[in-house]
Amino acid sequence: MTWRTHMCGDARAELVGESITLAGWAARRRDHGGLVFIDLRDRTGVTQLVINPEHAPEAAELAHGIRNEFVLRAAGKLVARSPETVNPAMPTGEVEVAVEQLEIVSRSTPLPFQLDEENVDETLRLRYRWLDLRRDKLQRNIRLRAQMVGIIRREMEEAGFLDIQTPILFKPTPEGARDFVVPSRLQPGRFYALPQSPQILKQLTMVAGFDRYYQIAICFRDEDLRADRVQELTQLDVEMSFPDQELLFALMERMFARIWRECLGIEIETPFPRMAFAEADRRFGSDKPDTRFALEVEDATEPTRGSQFGVFAGAEAVRFLRVPKTFSRGELAKLEELAKEWGAKGLAYLVYDGGELRSPIAKFLSEEELAAFAGRDGETLLFAADTWELTSRVLGALRLHLGRQLGLIDEGAFTFLWVNDFPMFEREGGDGRWTAVHHPFTRPTGEWQERFADDPGSALAHAYDLIVSGNELGGGSFRIHEPELQSKVFDLLDLMPEEQRAKFGFLLDALAMGAPPHGGIALGIDRMTMVLAGEPNLRDVIAFPKNQAGVDPMSSAPSEVTQEQLDELGIRLIEPPA
Ligand code: ASP
Repeated sequence: MTWRTHMCGDARAELVGESITLAGWAARRRDHGGLVFIDLRDRTGVTQLVINPEHAPEAAELAHGIRNEFVLRAAGKLVARSPETVNPAMPTGEVEVAVEQLEIVSRSTPLPFQLDEENVDETLRLRYRWLDLRRDKLQRNIRLRAQMVGIIRREMEEAGFLDIQTPILFKPTPEGARDFVVPSRLQPGRFYALPQSPQILKQLTMVAGFDRYYQIAICFRDEDLRADRVQELTQLDVEMSFPDQELLFALMERMFARIWRECLGIEIETPFPRMAFAEADRRFGSDKPDTRFALEVEDATEPTRGSQFGVFAGAEAVRFLRVPKTFSRGELAKLEELAKEWGAKGLAYLVYDGGELRSPIAKFLSEEELAAFAGRDGETLLFAADTWELTSRVLGALRLHLGRQLGLIDEGAFTFLWVNDFPMFEREGGDGRWTAVHHPFTRPTGEWQERFADDPGSALAHAYDLIVSGNELGGGSFRIHEPELQSKVFDLLDLMPEEQRAKFGFLLDALAMGAPPHGGIALGIDRMTMVLAGEPNLRDVIAFPKNQAGVDPMSSAPSEVTQEQLDELGIRLIEPPA
């Protein structure tokens, strides 16, 4: 017996007259006074079955008991629909199967939600994920993801990169998140950490002489979840010895071009433009600028040095957005609320409205200041005056908000951009100890190699990020391959020599045994799929995601373990789980 001779999506006019057998799910059933219609669905599409009690009495009898999502097998002749019943909205809408034999292969309990229902609660969808995944959108997203990963693998292999698997039970790897830890039964009181990325391991594959490594790697980061963040992320992880930035960038660009071409039918322009972090920060108030629209940040620090408006005169930076719209007072109050949420103390404005200048601060500003801003009729200038960093944060966020609100963004467009020359270090919480902006294995740029420790705040790293339409899809760097240089960076990060040995001794030992220069990149597969699918929810490009609380409503993971398991691991809970 064969389950099926054709797929549901195959049913086309060319096959009319043939006897075919299909198998799939009942997507919809309609009883029309005797005739029963069933939409049968498989992964390729939907075909209409017609069951006529006069021709197939047994099948008709059975058909009355069929409910949505039953699995059926149907055999019959493919016939042309009468002209008035052709459905042009359906690829198989010209034909239907005149059923001769029908079999219920598998039944379904009543459904917790219908597949075509909109706005189903996400927890319910995740609880019954196998049903949720049958929906068109999720089928498309998951297939798109697989298609993309297939292209990635082909490109990487064609370029001579070797797929090397690295362990999941490992040691802490610093990517700036909390670790997930796993207790060891064989080594009581000791814990593995799940890798936040295979960073150190991929560097060791270079020391080991593999020259070109890649992996579709799962990384674990115990972070608070947001719409664009998960705890278990998948990345394309890449490393090469004797690295050549042009070669690496060209490889990534070729890969993206092929993905966009094959998955979306869109030709993207390569090479991608490049921008130094300092420029991105200055022009867009962001390290991942959305370059699909202009609305750039302008600087008014110099012209306001002697301002009568104290807030301007006293601020480290005075910067503004020139918005092509006149806002009402109410609208301005709302924007100010937002600016305050992002950390601003206030939001000064000048509205150039029909020859009139509306602004509570205009009276403090000199002719020269107003001339310097050069406001034009129909514009509103929105100012932030604070530290450079804060003005970037506030105006960068405001720019995105207004870009969306005013419809300045071409949502269908994709802009690719490399951002490079990142700062190497930043202070934790603004004034704490130094931390690495990328990770501590990133090398300083050539000019900073000897003197990064003299002025850590200004030192630049040989690091780069890839940005697509304002989304950071990934980043990487050239690495430190000299053990002395690596120790110096650890020193600056306040890692005591014993701590350096305990945490990274194996890396320092490896670097001391003939380490080639190396560098690489990692790209987030989940985010790439999101951008490719135009899907705002990261969980909808992952087959089995967890919810925002890190819980899988389907299996109820994480779950309790038995006292026996805890005893074996030598673990005592301070508080029993609620
Ligand atoms: N390990 C880095 C990350 O996961 C990427 C890299 O530097 O290659 O972000």
